[in-house]
Amino acid sequence: MCLAALFALAVAGYEVSESPGNQIFGKTVVRGPSNQRVVALTYDDGPNPPYTDEILAVLRAENVRATFFVVGRAVVAYPAVVRREVTQGNALGNHTWSHGHLVLYDERGVRQTLERTDRAIYAATGIHTRIMRPPFGARDWLVLREARKLHYVPVMWSVPLPHDWEYPPAQVIATRVLRYAGDGAIIALHDGNQGIVCEGRRVSRRLCDRSADVGATRLIIEALKRKGYRFVTIPELLRLQGRATRTAYRASE
Ligand SMILES: [Zn+2]
Repeated sequence: MCLAALFALAVAGYEVSESPGNQIFGKTVVRGPSNQRVVALTYDDGPNPPYTDEILAVLRAENVRATFFVVGRAVVAYPAVVRREVTQGNALGNHTWSHGHLVLYDERGVRQTLERTDRAIYAATGIHTRIMRPPFGARDWLVLREARKLHYVPVMWSVPLPHDWEYPPAQVIATRVLRYAGDGAIIALHDGNQGIVCEGRRVSRRLCDRSADVGATRLIIEALKRKGYRFVTIPELLRLQGRATRTAYRASE
């Protein structure tokens, strides 16, 4: 009985730590201004060719810019893809080195996974990003405190995750997203799978298949454009809210 109660408590705690909207552990960005017709498209877990490039092609054709929360180990594997994200005007965010559950890390571990990823992003692009998204959305006081010490703004999402990692068709992903995408929404999709590098590895190709996210990207952009929405990157969204603009900068500036 007591064990069951403890278990229920642990599950509840786990769910709170991953719930995107809660501010119990510290302030995070969950959405943009609710009085402006803007949305932010974000992609987690890449870079992951060829799907990241296919998403970039859709964004370019639609003249839309997005934000990519990249995983360090994948950045090192595909630096050219990350460079293309940047040269096309998209913003980058730090999604840790290996997509670990940060609540299980100590202070040093949190710092290291963010700093190592920052070095990889800088080596690939010459940019230091100062926005981050904790893998699985999982954070606690310690995680957010360490992220803030490194001057990161933690960015969550406002549209419930469409479970695109369960391989639903593009239309299903788009429908799930469009049901909730309103003014100032932050939409989170996946161009990769936890930063797993599939190329040349003995892992199932399906692990890295994000073709449905490519199709969903096109459907979501078309539908929201018809409704008069403008697409902004997360740094642009923060500027609209009057937040510090030091979210992404080139070290040379
Ligand atoms: Zn992720």
